[in-house]
Amino acid sequence: VELYGATRRNSLGLNLADEQATAALRPALSRAAPAPDVRSIVVDDAVGDAPRQPVCSPADRRRVLGTWTPLPSARVTDVVGAALAAQAAWNAQGVGKRAAMLERAADRLESDMAGFMRLAIREAGKTAPDAVTEVREAVDFLRYYAVQARRLMARAEVMPGPTGEHNELQLHGKGVFVCISPWNFPLAIFTGQVAAALVTGNAVIAKPAEQTNLIAWRMVQLLHDCGVPRGALQLVLGAGDLGASLVADPRIAGVVFTGSVEVAQAINRTLAARSGPIATLIAETGGQNAMIVDSSALPEQVVKDTLASAFGSAGQRCSALRVLYLQNEIADRTLTMLRGAMRELVVGDPAWLRTDVGPVIDAAAQQRLATHADDLVRQGCRVIERLEAPADGAHGTWFAPCAIEIDRLGRLDGEYFGAMLHVIRFDARALDRVIDEINASGYGLTLGVHSRIETTWRRVQQLARVGNCYVNRGMTGAVVGVQPFGGEGLSGTGPKAGGPHYLLRFVAERT
Ligand code: GLU
Repeated sequence: VELYGATRRNSLGLNLADEQATAALRPALSRAAPAPDVRSIVVDDAVGDAPRQPVCSPADRRRVLGTWTPLPSARVTDVVGAALAAQAAWNAQGVGKRAAMLERAADRLESDMAGFMRLAIREAGKTAPDAVTEVREAVDFLRYYAVQARRLMARAEVMPGPTGEHNELQLHGKGVFVCISPWNFPLAIFTGQVAAALVTGNAVIAKPAEQTNLIAWRMVQLLHDCGVPRGALQLVLGAGDLGASLVADPRIAGVVFTGSVEVAQAINRTLAARSGPIATLIAETGGQNAMIVDSSALPEQVVKDTLASAFGSAGQRCSALRVLYLQNEIADRTLTMLRGAMRELVVGDPAWLRTDVGPVIDAAAQQRLATHADDLVRQGCRVIERLEAPADGAHGTWFAPCAIEIDRLGRLDGEYFGAMLHVIRFDARALDRVIDEINASGYGLTLGVHSRIETTWRRVQQLARVGNCYVNRGMTGAVVGVQPFGGEGLSGTGPKAGGPHYLLRFVAERT
C-alpha cells in the first residue's frame, strides 16, 4: 500500500496449508521448551520477592510453562518516577529514530514467528491459525504506527501567518502512558498499545493481563534489543490492584486499556478522582455483537461466517458474534445447516494443527459460560447444538461451542466471552425493531448483516450505532490499516486501533 509517500505492506504470516512452511514450525511447537521465570522489567531492577506464580497451559493445567513474580504495588511510585525521568530524552530523540526501532522490532518479530506462536498457543490456548494472526497483527501494528507517526510528527505543520508572522504546530509525546492489555490478544494488542504510545514520544509502563505474562515479557525484551531505552519502556507484572495503583498516580498522562467495560469504568472513576492534570483514557471494551440475516441471504455463506465469527478463537474476541438474528423464513434451514457444520468442528488441544476451537483462558471464564448456558436451558430455551469438551481434556478449561435460541436480547446481562451463540428469530416487518433492540443494549462494537437487498443492508448500516459494520462476510479479524477497529457507547472511547487517527490521542499539540 502506498501510504503518504511510504510503501507499507501487511505481514504475510505463514500459510499453514503449505507443508514446507509448517515444517519449521512443527519442531518448535512440539519441543518441550524450558520454563522461563519472568519478572517485571523496571529501571532499578528492584522487583521484590513475592512468591512466584505458575503459568499453566489452559489446555492442560498440569503443564507448567513458566513462573512469574508479581511486582508489589508499593513500587509504583518509583516506576512512574523512572518513566518520567526518561520521557523527555525519549521524546527528544525524534520520531525518525523511534519509528525505525519499531520497524526493526517488526522484522525481528516476523523472523521469530515460530517462537512467538508457540507462546500464544501454549500460554493463551490459541490455535495455530490464530497464533499466526496474532503475530501478523503485532507486526502490522509496529509498521503501521511507524509510518503514521512519521506522517504526523516528522515535520511541524506550518500554519498560515496572515500578518507576516510564522506559526507552526508541533506534536509531542504527552508524558507517561500506562498500557493495560488483555489476554485474548496477548501479543497483538499488547504490542499495538505499546507501539502507539512509544512512537509518539511517550514513556510507557506496560501491564499485561496476568494470564499472559510470558509472551509480553518476551516482546518487551525484543523492543529493548531493538533500541528502546529501559526507562522509556518498563514492564510491570501483577493483578488488577497493580494496574489500579498505576492509574491512581497523578503523574500519569494517559491510560490505554483493552478489557471489560466494568474495569474501564473503574479506571475512568480513578482518573477523575485523582489530583493532577486530566488524563487521557483510551478504552476498548466489550460488545454484544449481532448479525442480522434476512431471507435473501445465502444460508451456506451465513453458516460459514457464523462459525468463524462466533466460534473462531473459541469466541474470545471482543468482535465475536454473540447474537444471530434470523428472519423467520430462512431460520429453520439455516439452523439445520449450522447444527451440521458445528458437528464438524474439531475441539481440542491447540498445539494440534487441525484444531478449530481450543480452550478458554481459565476456570473462571469456563464457569461463567457454562452457568449461563445451563441457566438458559433451565429457562426452557431450545438448544440448537452444544458440543462437548475433548475426551482427553479433563485437565483443561473448555467451553465447547454452544448455540441456543432465545426470544429477546434482554435475556442477556452483559457479554459472554466464549463460543456461546444466541439465536433470535425475527419477522421481516420488524427489522427496525431489531436494530433498536441492538442499539438499546448500549454496546456498539461490531455488527454483521447478511442480505442481498442493498436497501436493507444500507438501512442497517445507517441506523446501527456500531464501530465496525460488516456486510455479507464474517465480522472478526479487522486488518490493521485496512479496517480501523473499535466501538462506541459501552464498547469504547475510540480512536480506532490500526486507523489513521489513533496516534492523535497520544500527543500534545504545541503551537
Ligand atoms: N481486532 C480484533 C478483531 O477484529 C478483535 C480485538 C479484540 O478482541 O479485542 O477481531
